[in-house]
Amino acid sequence: MRVLIADEVDPVCGVRLRAAGFEVDEKFGVSYDALKGIIGSYDILIVRSRTKVTREIIERGKNLRAIGRVGVGLDTIDVKAAEEAGIKILNTPQMSTVAVAELVMGMMLGLARKICLASESMKKGLWEKKKLHGIELKGKTLGVVGFGRIGRAVAERSRAFGMNILVYDVVVDENALTRVGGERVSKIGDLLQRSDVVTVHVPLIPETYHMFGEAAFSTMRHGSFFINASRGEVVDTGALLRALKSGMIAGAAIDVFEHEPPETPEERELVSLPNVIATPHIGAQTREAQLLGAELIAENIINAFKPL
Ligand code: NAD
Repeated sequence: MRVLIADEVDPVCGVRLRAAGFEVDEKFGVSYDALKGIIGSYDILIVRSRTKVTREIIERGKNLRAIGRVGVGLDTIDVKAAEEAGIKILNTPQMSTVAVAELVMGMMLGLARKICLASESMKKGLWEKKKLHGIELKGKTLGVVGFGRIGRAVAERSRAFGMNILVYDVVVDENALTRVGGERVSKIGDLLQRSDVVTVHVPLIPETYHMFGEAAFSTMRHGSFFINASRGEVVDTGALLRALKSGMIAGAAIDVFEHEPPETPEERELVSLPNVIATPHIGAQTREAQLLGAELIAENIINAFKPL
């Protein structure tokens, strides 16, 4: 079976697959047009989030039997087209849980103590100690929207900082909730009104598109912080920008954008605000997560298709 790895995946993936008898081509960064031309000769396509696996790619992939996504989100793959063509989709949802949760902790501390602002100001040769007053997380309330793998990992870590945890999800894992000592709210508005920090960990699906818009931000506590390391489209950028500029919310940390890299004037302005910490979708960018993802996708493919 021929496997094409179209995005940069740790070499261990290719090594494992070859050892199991697969023929593997690593064409990291292959362009969309080039992919259209070559996809017909592969049985399995492995991607991260860069390569968009559109209906067009799927239709040209006459021999495709599986698409392996190193990561969680399937929003870069036309899942419906794949299903219609009888193509299996394999992903590695566990790989980035710790990486994203640790990034969110960094963002939360960064917002609370203005760490990025302090560092930028020192690099300009300034000593602005008086301007750099922050808050402590201990005793504050964290609102976790989406209590799945990452939401739970953030809640567990925040508990260790002495925070109170509120949880909003469509289905709540009661055991996990008990373990972190969190409280479930049945209306998202309750969570927004009561939280000092709101962190979002829902998937991008039609129900969550622009889930955070004008109404959500105006419900949030005055002076609270907002963190999004889920998907850019979950947040209405314009609404977040207005909430930050009006002082309705005190700061935001954003890892994911409606356009990546940011391209609209609103997105660019958002990134430039002093009370915004912006990172270029680095949630899963740790050595450990990438290695785990490469191992897991190889394992999934071997289990599903091991050549005889
Ligand atoms: P998960 O599937 O384990 O958890 C998602 C949770 O959201 C589930 O518990 C689900 O019930 C809940 N949910 C779904 N719809 C909801 C709704 N309308 N309202 C409230 N809750 C809802 O997923 P995960 O692994 O925790 O990932 C969470 C998000 O993080 C995803 O959007 C994923 O794409 C994103 N992610 C980002 C990065 C990054 O680099 N920043 C890396 C990995 C994952």
